[in-house]
Amino acid sequence: MRYAKFLTPDGPTYALVETRDQILYAVSPTDSPEEDPTPKRAFPVAPLDQFRLLPPVRPSKIVCVGRNYRDHAAELGNEVPKEPLLFLKPPSSLLASGGTIRMPALSRRVDFEGELAVVIGRNCRNLRPGDDARGYIRGYTLVNDVTARDIQKSDGQWTRGKGWDTFCPTGPLVSTELDPMESPVTLTTRVNGEIRQQASTADLIFPIPELLRYISACMTLLPGDLIPTGTPAGVGPLQPGDVVEISIESLGILRNSVARE
Ligand code: ZN
Repeated sequence: MRYAKFLTPDGPTYALVETRDQILYAVSPTDSPEEDPTPKRAFPVAPLDQFRLLPPVRPSKIVCVGRNYRDHAAELGNEVPKEPLLFLKPPSSLLASGGTIRMPALSRRVDFEGELAVVIGRNCRNLRPGDDARGYIRGYTLVNDVTARDIQKSDGQWTRGKGWDTFCPTGPLVSTELDPMESPVTLTTRVNGEIRQQASTADLIFPIPELLRYISACMTLLPGDLIPTGTPAGVGPLQPGDVVEISIESLGILRNSVARE
């Protein structure tokens, strides 16, 4: 199944999403897949992009992976890490598809980073090499790991550079059907319609089961937690007025505009 979350005149609801004539439609309300009190609310069947979307996840934490594609590590002059390089983004940085990325006045370079993200479905601690990661994964979505590159560098650690409000666009939907561990998918990022990143998730240095093992050896992953798996080559700065779109077939298009704070 695929689902999204959006506002109706009566309040937020989760909804099942289907493709009809190559367009994503919200077709019926569904129970919250998360520990989330959002009730089902009626709405007219309509294309998903006609609704005011909300992030389709409620993470206790967003655990990101740096430099997980060889060509991206190289483009910023970094070595390929020997172990996954983890950092956190705060849940307060979440932004729905359709929302506006706000460029902080303190930064002179705000980059896009298109990423496939895992959504955790079940408490996961100390995943072992023989364990099937699938049992802990609810599904997949898209994330833009927006980064104030200059502040990431000057701070030395990444909390501010990665953590501003609106720096984690997520959505538009979660798919519980996609299985990129079995069948790799192609991730594409466009800025103002022009392709800037395109890569297969087959090129992840540390594949998804290894990421879950590495992270869960340290911290318990909880339902709704989000794990953006890293960005391929092609990252670059955004300008006010830009529209950035990240897509994977079947996950739809995560589309956000950019404005100065
Ligand atoms: Zn990233």
